[in-house]
Amino acid sequence: MSKIIDSALVWFRNDLRVEDHHGLNQAIAKCDNIIAYYSFNPYHYGENKWGFKKTEKYRTKFLIESIKGLKAALKKLNITLIIDLESPQKTIPEIVKKYQVNYIYLQREWTEEELEEEKEVSKAIEGSISWERHYEQMLFHPEELPFDISQIPEVFSSFRKRCEKEVTIRPITALPKPLPLSNLLEKSYELPQLTDLGLENNETDHRSAFPFHGGTANALERLRLYFWENKKLSYYKNTRNGLIGSDYSSKFSPWLANGSISPKMIYWEIKRYEKSVQKNQSTYWLIFELIWRDYFKYISMKHGNKIFKIKGILERDYKWGNSYSVFDSWCEGKTSEPFVNANMIELKQTGWMSNRGRQNVASFFSKDLKMDWRIGAAYFESMLLDYDVHSNYGNWMYISGVGNDPRDRKFDIRWQAQRYDSNSKFQNLWLQNTLF
Ligand code: FAD
Repeated sequence: MSKIIDSALVWFRNDLRVEDHHGLNQAIAKCDNIIAYYSFNPYHYGENKWGFKKTEKYRTKFLIESIKGLKAALKKLNITLIIDLESPQKTIPEIVKKYQVNYIYLQREWTEEELEEEKEVSKAIEGSISWERHYEQMLFHPEELPFDISQIPEVFSSFRKRCEKEVTIRPITALPKPLPLSNLLEKSYELPQLTDLGLENNETDHRSAFPFHGGTANALERLRLYFWENKKLSYYKNTRNGLIGSDYSSKFSPWLANGSISPKMIYWEIKRYEKSVQKNQSTYWLIFELIWRDYFKYISMKHGNKIFKIKGILERDYKWGNSYSVFDSWCEGKTSEPFVNANMIELKQTGWMSNRGRQNVASFFSKDLKMDWRIGAAYFESMLLDYDVHSNYGNWMYISGVGNDPRDRKFDIRWQAQRYDSNSKFQNLWLQNTLF
């Protein structure tokens, strides 16, 4: 009797790496033929309901670089990455048919658009197929959590304390061994240009705090410099509220957001650093921040689509405005607050903004301008290099008083500017050198 050949499609979305990738490992362990797939789905490059682009040029450029890295890493494993400019709903069923795929491996997602996408693909596939979903994006694996998802605490510190005590972080999944050369498809797929996706080319602004490129190799190089070469990790807690330059914080977020690096890879490297260089409050604090990232993922898993609703997870009724001119003045950095303006211009010119800046401009938008926080969140979604659905909507709800902040605070922008930019260096950097 001839052996049944199993073929797998590994569908990459926000897990753009080959290291620490359980799904890819499982596919290789189980199946004879492996094809990898990524779609620059046209939906992501269209307009959102507020009338601006869902994804702007900064993150797209970073994504193209990330896919370039993924393609090369997969090639070393003798796996072809199919790079698609059509929607997965259209192309995956064709691939399944052509290559007689019987397994689809993918990172499990739970937000609206991702689920809808999977449903559409599933509907369009003829015949039966096995869907193999894995969680690749958290530090604390859902199976290790000490709570049911419905019981995730609404206060971060309760979540953090129990997880820190009771969860063992899993080891890194080993890099798979290369497949036989015969696994490669006959054709290699080209990367798109920004213009193919309807976006203009852009040069990095010399003032950018994020002058880095996409892809796992660049993420690991950043980690090497920040941890091992410059030992900045040892000072992170004191510098993390900074505003200028690349070293006040780790800058891992854009790679984490698209999965070029996993939180576990960072965690285990911090542990290694703590053993061989130094363990202090700063080394712990980077883990603390990675737990915030997990927390917002679990909050969105618990509350589902409420994170996109105006009343948020608190179901609070506030009166929100939606004036276009108010929104426009915020985006363009033309409000009454220079500190807000400097941050918004930085975002517009580079796709980056510090955590301190984000807190201030979001508070100003929702609490001072009293604008519908979802419009601000959608603008961040469009512009940010590191947009991550859970962190973005979770933080926006938190700041806007409809999320997980029991204190419902408002930022005093003048006080914040005085405290974090007392000599106006940051404001001058973005307000004096910008030509309108
Ligand atoms: P570091 O200070 O070096 O922290 C290390 C990592 O911890 C980060 O890379 C990130 O993964 C995680 N982290 C740190 N702070 C937070 C936080 N408040 N919430 C969740 N995770 C955190 N972060 C995103 O990754 N994507 C977003 O779309 C996003 N939107 C935000 C919107 C608002 C309104 C606010 C206030 C914050 C948002 N953040 C978002 C969180 C935070 O601002 C960024 O993660 C951080 O500034 C990234 O810089 P870094 O990698 O140098 O962070």
